[in-house]
Amino acid sequence: MYLCIMVKNEVLALVDKGEMLPLMEEFYTIQGEGFHKGTAAYFIRVGGCDVGCHWCDVKESWNAATHPPTTIDAIVNNAAKYSNTIVVTGGEPLTWNMAPLTEALKAKNLQTHIETSGAYTLTGIWDWICLSPKKNKLPQGIIYDKADELKMIIYNKNDFKFAEEQAAKVNKDCILYLQPEWSVKDKMTPLIVDFVMKNPQWKVSLQTHKYLNIP
Ligand code: SF4
Repeated sequence: MYLCIMVKNEVLALVDKGEMLPLMEEFYTIQGEGFHKGTAAYFIRVGGCDVGCHWCDVKESWNAATHPPTTIDAIVNNAAKYSNTIVVTGGEPLTWNMAPLTEALKAKNLQTHIETSGAYTLTGIWDWICLSPKKNKLPQGIIYDKADELKMIIYNKNDFKFAEEQAAKVNKDCILYLQPEWSVKDKMTPLIVDFVMKNPQWKVSLQTHKYLNIP
């Protein structure tokens, strides 16, 4: 019993340092969204998120305790077998220190991409940052300067205003995307199309993997 508690505490300490991560799932597929859509990529989905979007399509990711703490070596060795492009997603990956994972991925010359709400401090070495701000917990400072793409999810008409507010905060090279939330795509896509034609600094992003029926 004492040994079990000791091992559990050691594992939690490693997770705290980002040397182990609660791994929800990992899979090789096609990036469906944003700038890299159509690119083959290995996805690492890390558990843990307290942002609480009511329309979230991966609510099972929220409770980190339900996902097994996994060593960085195991995650990276799996990833390296499949692809040069690695997408770290969640959950909210910045819940955890991403430095150990990304250092290990870069040591194998892999491209590191992150999909994040930016709700927590940016850690890790990233080749591509997809920032997708959420109203419940706004991004933390520096990530606005570092983001390569801004992906705003449109669930209702008020989200256009939020998207413009967030676009005013990102760096000038950041690519701007509006993406309909899947459950309301039939209603919101025509509004997005109309908005983008009137505001061509924005582009439309669709969840093409869902149309293709792939993960
Ligand atoms: S930030 Fe992402 S994972 Fe977290 S609740 Fe929102 S959509 Fe879900």
